[in-house]
Amino acid sequence: MNQATPQKGHPKGLYVLFATEMWERFNYYGMRAILVLFMTKALMFDKVFASNIYGSYTGLVYLTPLVGGYIADRYWGNKRSIILGGLVMAIGEFVLFFCGSMYQSNPELAALLFFTGLGLMIAGNGFFKPNISAMVGQLYPENDKRKDSAYTVFYMGINTGGAIGPFVCGFFGDTGNPADFKWAFLAAGIGMLLSVVVMHFFHNKYVVDHNKNILGLTPQDSPAATRKPLYVFLGLLIFSIISIGLIYVEANVFSYLFYLLLGSISLIAFLIFSDKTLSALEKKKVSVIFVVSFFVIFFWSAFEQAGASLTFFAEEQTNRTLGSYTIPSSFFQSLNSTFVVAFAPLFAWLWLKLGKYEPGSPAKMALGLFLLALGYLWIAFGVHNVASGVKVSMIWLTGMYALHTCGELCLSPIGLSLVNKLAPIKFASLLMAVWFTANAFANKFAGVLSGLYPDGKTTYFAGYAITNLFDFFILFVAMAGAAAFVLFLIARKLKTMMD
Ligand code: GLN
Repeated sequence: MNQATPQKGHPKGLYVLFATEMWERFNYYGMRAILVLFMTKALMFDKVFASNIYGSYTGLVYLTPLVGGYIADRYWGNKRSIILGGLVMAIGEFVLFFCGSMYQSNPELAALLFFTGLGLMIAGNGFFKPNISAMVGQLYPENDKRKDSAYTVFYMGINTGGAIGPFVCGFFGDTGNPADFKWAFLAAGIGMLLSVVVMHFFHNKYVVDHNKNILGLTPQDSPAATRKPLYVFLGLLIFSIISIGLIYVEANVFSYLFYLLLGSISLIAFLIFSDKTLSALEKKKVSVIFVVSFFVIFFWSAFEQAGASLTFFAEEQTNRTLGSYTIPSSFFQSLNSTFVVAFAPLFAWLWLKLGKYEPGSPAKMALGLFLLALGYLWIAFGVHNVASGVKVSMIWLTGMYALHTCGELCLSPIGLSLVNKLAPIKFASLLMAVWFTANAFANKFAGVLSGLYPDGKTTYFAGYAITNLFDFFILFVAMAGAAAFVLFLIARKLKTMMD
């Protein structure tokens, strides 16, 4: 085809990346749907410990992409990194399957296998996630208008997997019998293998740029030794052992993750702001990325309660009977992704319709935080004055997830493109790292906040006493609401700094 002709539709490669990412997210969210249930009902961890492990695990999952992205760019290329990362994650799920098979007969070994499985998931995701996202844009020529819609299609892939994973894994694993959780890990592991199979068989044929060059191959100046099978194996093994150590120490020995994240952010900020080659204007734009990343922490730390406190709430405080059927609590984790698939076209239409009245990125993010606060206000209403032990209607959790998803659609898709647009080329990857680190921070913090879930005892957050679920949910209303308010106030200033 003549290259000057504007092209319609999307290259087939996008659908290969769609399917690969879909099955990986199936694996990630399917496993996450039962994770805290498995910890509290099979491994018999208490809710605070389970919440902390949840936060540390999901936090580390967002930290390792910094390493995986770096290794792929310099040594292995995207394709090799994705396939290897996928295989490591699949092994992680199978290790968890064994853990779920022997937690009764050999609890000590099961606990060891549990942290090993989580560590492998953390290590594998580091190689998978950043590298697949990077290739989506590379399917198109530099200024191709289809890029934005390609990322929307890809986001649909993420959420199709995120919607189906909890259903399938919940169906097999969350049966009411803790011995069945293992089937969820097995199903997730099989999904992960399907992802790798899709990439292995279809990548070279379809994942090509507009000149038909295969994408994500080994970088040209990568030393051959770094790709020797033995070294690749050893590299993955060492990285996996480190990841297992990281989650084990964070959960059982001492909590270092907050300090590590704080240290990384400070170091990156120092590196960038002390760089003499950057102009004052560029530094101004970089500071917008830092400010926005800071606010995003408040969003995800409340949003990611989904896999922790909100799952406890679904399990214990929500009436899940539908006729003679009891809906597994893990199914509720599929609502967010299901709503994304349903609402995303609506939001795309809305922004288009608003035309020149479409809010700027910071204002949209503030709106996202506001909708999140509204979601928590909705569920706080649902539990207000409800005696402890009484189960409330599913409508509260469902409505809250619908509002949270509207918030996500205002905030999440524009975040990445904002970073892309504002970052000076020289620091593009490093600033992407800031974005990921903000996510890591938020997830770790989510675990800490979930640990405040009132479980017959009073918990405290900065002097605020939480004695019941109403108090608990109001904490998130206040946190997200205050962040929304401040971001609204400074949105205009940020907008001028960006332009
Ligand atoms: N749900 C999306 C995903 O899994 C985005 C999550 C996030 O950015 N924290 O990729």
